[in-house]
Amino acid sequence: MLKVLLITGASRGIGAETARLAAERGYALCLNYLHSKQAIEKLRESLASAGHHVITFKANVGVESEVMAMYQAIEREFGRIDGLVNNAGILEPQSDLVDMSPERWQRILQINVIGSFLCAREAIKLMSTRNGGHGGSIVNLSSRAADLGAPHEYVDYAAAKGAIDAMTLGLAKEVGDQGIRVNAVKPGLIYTDIHADGGEAGRVDRLKSSVPMLRGGLPVEVAEAILWLLSEASAYTSGSFIDVSGGR
Ligand code: NAP
Repeated sequence: MLKVLLITGASRGIGAETARLAAERGYALCLNYLHSKQAIEKLRESLASAGHHVITFKANVGVESEVMAMYQAIEREFGRIDGLVNNAGILEPQSDLVDMSPERWQRILQINVIGSFLCAREAIKLMSTRNGGHGGSIVNLSSRAADLGAPHEYVDYAAAKGAIDAMTLGLAKEVGDQGIRVNAVKPGLIYTDIHADGGEAGRVDRLKSSVPMLRGGLPVEVAEAILWLLSEASAYTSGSFIDVSGGR
């Protein structure tokens, strides 16, 4: 039986690399996106042409009705779910907190925090052995920003990722006896387009000298940690965090 994996925000960056690696390792996939229809369809076509079972689903992870519709589509297509990668995330332009608006904080928390909560809640309903499910593995994308604070850039984003850390710990304890493991990966400075959204496309190169390994990371290097946490190789690991940050 193929294991079924939902990756949110799979159109680019870490999500897209996780999709490629997961397909290679035999997962059937639901790839979520919001705006980048062309990119996600290109990814789906390349995976499908290699023989992988892949569907795409447009949903804003911060909107409950859209997340529910996505899980209904997964149930219809696959009849089960074994893994969730809570990857969709957003940054806003770099700023001191003193200059930020409540509307910005609302957006940051709605997508990064409530989006992950909603996707986890619906996954648990299907995965839980209490409901006849097969159990499963949830991997949350936190960030080293949760520990470093991201001063003068995005303290709000760092705080949202701090909330993800607390959720990872608490949820792992809540659902451990339902066959579900919950862990998180904490990337450092990774080469993706998220930094351009924060207003500085060259951010990783500017800061890489502060990384002990003196380089930024690749999305695939984060994807490898995610895939390990999804797999049976990490069967006794729950409520845990893997830093993928070159030692920073
Ligand atoms: P990215 O390249 O900006 O990609 C973000 C993805 O999230 C896109 O596929 C985007 O889809 C999707 N997305 C955004 N808002 C969404 C929403 N409301 N609903 C559904 N999908 C949505 O980001 P990334 O750098 O790969 O980051 C992936 C995760 O790792 C994020 O949680 C991020 O916070 C975390 N992280 C990244 C770094 C880093 O240095 N890159 C470091 C630490 C943590 P569309 O394009 O279709 O809208």
